[in-house]
Amino acid sequence: MKNIITSLVCLLFAISFSYAQDKDLKFNEDQLLNRLKILSSDKFEGRRTGQKGNNLARAYIIEQFKSLNVRGYQGNYEHPFSFDTRIGAFNANNILVEIKGTEHLDKYIVISAHHDHLGVSGDKIFNGADDDASGISALFSFAEYLTKNPPKHSVILAAFDAEELGLRGAKHFLANFDTSKILINLNMDMISRSAKNELYAVGARYNKALKSIVDNFENSTTSKLLQGHDGTDGKQDWTMSSDHGPFHVAKIPFLYFGNEDHAAYHKETDVFEDITPEFYKNSVQMILSIFETIDTSGL
Ligand SMILES: [Zn+2]
Repeated sequence: MKNIITSLVCLLFAISFSYAQDKDLKFNEDQLLNRLKILSSDKFEGRRTGQKGNNLARAYIIEQFKSLNVRGYQGNYEHPFSFDTRIGAFNANNILVEIKGTEHLDKYIVISAHHDHLGVSGDKIFNGADDDASGISALFSFAEYLTKNPPKHSVILAAFDAEELGLRGAKHFLANFDTSKILINLNMDMISRSAKNELYAVGARYNKALKSIVDNFENSTTSKLLQGHDGTDGKQDWTMSSDHGPFHVAKIPFLYFGNEDHAAYHKETDVFEDITPEFYKNSVQMILSIFETIDTSGL
């Protein structure tokens, strides 16, 4: 009997401990890594727009959003579009989900990443672990967090397609959205790999309130959040480097989060095994914290 009571007490303690732990965490870190691993696996053949691997990845992304109980934007997860380029015509597909705001239903924070990458060339598969499976997996962490902590502003989580073909998904999205309703775009592209443990936040300088939020950010992680690459410091200017570019052109405030280009940038060596897991978790933690501040205080 005594043994049973001891076991019961232990069990209760274990349950309450794991509950407390779960409450403190903003998202499941193991899942963050696991989903990145899956998205950058050979099965998805580099996720090139219009190809089989891209379609399989899209199905996986929708399945994850469904399992996290977030709904498609205007009732649809898939938002298809097509476009022509010098190398031919493409069919592409943005994946959009919406979490309604509790206070500012009609004002949106658009959190984005791109699900396409470079595909296959000869016997090389471009897995695009950092670029940008890292951003897409982070969208699922946001979905986890937001369903438990409903935002004040409405949020769209956007997995854009055809970024690698000229930021096409973001452009298509903006052409079909009332841009006056967008408070800000937070774009994540390459946030999982940094030997220096440094994440950049680009774009704050274009908005006073945003600049103040990033300047005063209290970083609770062991990684650094830097500003720069914004045309002011002589480094490569990233203002138009990814899907936040078209938001900037449309005069919408943006923050782009990314790490310095590394040796594996746009190479077949951009693989899961070489990401820096601790840095990646910290990146998502920092971006979530900045999101919370913007959602609370507005711009
Ligand atoms: Zn990218």
